[in-house]
Amino acid sequence: MKFCSQCGNKVTLKIPDGDNRPRYVCQVCSFIHYQNPNVVVGTLPIFVEKSGVLKVLLCLRDIEPRLGYWTLPAGFLENNETSLEGALRETVEESCANISNLSLYRVFNVAHTNQIHMFFRADMLDDQFSTTSESSDVRLFGFDEIPWSRLAFPTVHKALKDFIEDLKKGHFPVEMSDIDESYWRRM
Ligand SMILES: [Zn+2]
Repeated sequence: MKFCSQCGNKVTLKIPDGDNRPRYVCQVCSFIHYQNPNVVVGTLPIFVEKSGVLKVLLCLRDIEPRLGYWTLPAGFLENNETSLEGALRETVEESCANISNLSLYRVFNVAHTNQIHMFFRADMLDDQFSTTSESSDVRLFGFDEIPWSRLAFPTVHKALKDFIEDLKKGHFPVEMSDIDESYWRRM
């Protein structure tokens, strides 16, 4: 950050009085620019086939970062929006899927990218979905068909791995965990 969002003059990085970490502070109007983590919200959209087989909806990213990699539908929470509303909106924006019964499933602290990722389990009401401006392909995958080496983000990988384990147990407790930079190297 170089310029003040309030008056346009130059900012400097310094620790304001009474604070304990550096902030961008305007040299002219003294406005302090606090920078805080972003929240990413998304879903695991689950479709149950007539045979009883469960499938999950993944989107092939047509936008950076990670263009050309598969992801669960997810994106940044907007102002004046609840986490659940955001997850529903992102799912529609990226896949045009019809979902309901959203239920919080995973919270990931991604401290090294200043993000918190929240994933909700969701029921797909039908098998209708389509590509969008953000997704060049949208597909249902069986849990033995997931393109593990072509997933976009560690949190998507972890949420899907966790879901498969919970499927075996037949229950889906909410859990929070930390994802660090070494996640892919440890896979
Ligand atoms: Zn200013």
